[in-house]
Amino acid sequence: MREIDGKTRVCGLIGNPVEHTLSPVIHNTLAQRMGQDLVYVPFLVEESRVEDAVKGAYALNVLGLNVTVPHKSAVLPWVKEIDPLAEKIGAANTLVRCEDGFRAYNTDMTGLHRAMLSDGIRLEQEKVILLGAGGAARAVAFLCAHTGVEKVYLLNRTVEKAQTVADEVNRSFGRECICSMALDEYDRIPGGGYLAIQCTSVGLHPHVDDVVIADEAFYEKLHSGYDLIYKPWETRFMKLVRENGGQAYNGLKMLCYQGIHAYELWNRVTVSDEDADTVLQKMKEAMGIDG
Ligand code: NAP
Repeated sequence: MREIDGKTRVCGLIGNPVEHTLSPVIHNTLAQRMGQDLVYVPFLVEESRVEDAVKGAYALNVLGLNVTVPHKSAVLPWVKEIDPLAEKIGAANTLVRCEDGFRAYNTDMTGLHRAMLSDGIRLEQEKVILLGAGGAARAVAFLCAHTGVEKVYLLNRTVEKAQTVADEVNRSFGRECICSMALDEYDRIPGGGYLAIQCTSVGLHPHVDDVVIADEAFYEKLHSGYDLIYKPWETRFMKLVRENGGQAYNGLKMLCYQGIHAYELWNRVTVSDEDADTVLQKMKEAMGIDG
């Protein structure tokens, strides 16, 4: 256990709930590996206290904060600066101390991009099916447009939300790359060879038998499926992707890399691939996953 003294810097997470977060594993492992005098702690923050939390953390000389559900948009009015990508997405998960306040970033998006690259997925060469239109899906839709994906079919149970996200992204990038649809219209998607990114909360523990689309014919259209969920380790969506010959990935690496990017921004360092592998391994151990 690290000795805490007068020079120890503090980083943390604000959200509600925060009890089950894996973020302390990421940051405390990195601080130990990289020999930095830093501790990372979760802070439970009520929705009505977000302004107090951000301003209070700055007053307490906190080096940086992660922000999780439900505060990712609510923090934005209380920061000094907003990185252009976080501004476009309208949500931030990382606050970095700067002069007179925090600067807000969205490392969920950059984290997913790095996770995909490390799995050999290059978005710019992909045709994508994006399932969901909530906060995570919105960030992924921006990532797809930002990286120059050929085409995205964005499907959501509430089709109006899919339409809103598609309109915002298309307007923001000045091209019609996102096409919105209702979830049950998946059989209208032409051809095959797609990467599907599962951004709904369907299948999340404890509802592990649920899946957003159960029809095997849908999975025949995919070469790969990325589920943002990482608990359970293999979702039913991932099983269906694999059973139909595709590669399937869960969201743990995305979580790992969003944390690594935040750590890099706070400490102005670059985390090596070896240290990233160690962090991922520690996260698996914390989840009780072998191998
Ligand atoms: P959110 O804003 O609440 O959005 C939830 C999405 O799921 C919406 O599109 C919603 O559709 C859809 N949905 C919920 N229940 C459904 C059902 N029964 N049938 C069909 N669609 C349903 O949540 P979020 O913040 O975007 O998070 C989504 C998932 O991503 C969560 O499981 C979260 O844990 C995961 N996530 C992972 C990471 C990571 O680092 N790996 C990061 C962020 C999020 P409607 O619009 O129709 O309600």
